[in-house]
Amino acid sequence: MRDDRAAHRRHRRAVAGLRHGDRKEPLIAPARRAGARPPRHFTVHLGFEAADPTSARELAVAYAEALGLLRPELALGAAALSPADAWHRAERLFCGAVGPDGERCADVAGHPGFHHAPGPGGLGWGDGD
Ligand SMILES: [Zn+2]
Repeated sequence: MRDDRAAHRRHRRAVAGLRHGDRKEPLIAPARRAGARPPRHFTVHLGFEAADPTSARELAVAYAEALGLLRPELALGAAALSPADAWHRAERLFCGAVGPDGERCADVAGHPGFHHAPGPGGLGWGDGD
């Protein structure tokens, strides 16, 4: 009969080493969670029909602005439009230029004139005419 006590001792030492060994903390332990994870951004994709890209852009801006009125926590500056089958071709709907006080322009992307902070009477800045 084969004596496997030496192999058994080696195995026990290896397992004990994985648990504690000379370390204060075990090598194998549950993942540390210092606290709740910070919130992350997600994107919702909504589908609709339009006659052409220009009409689609106008509708998308109207949908985004309407949702922004209903749910102020939405990040409208991240709103984008793409053909339904080509999300990789997404184009921003809003300008988003950063103003002198850190505010972002709420006008549509590619707008002429000054940039404008959101809200009535929002700050205007830039090289408008
Ligand atoms: Zn702008």
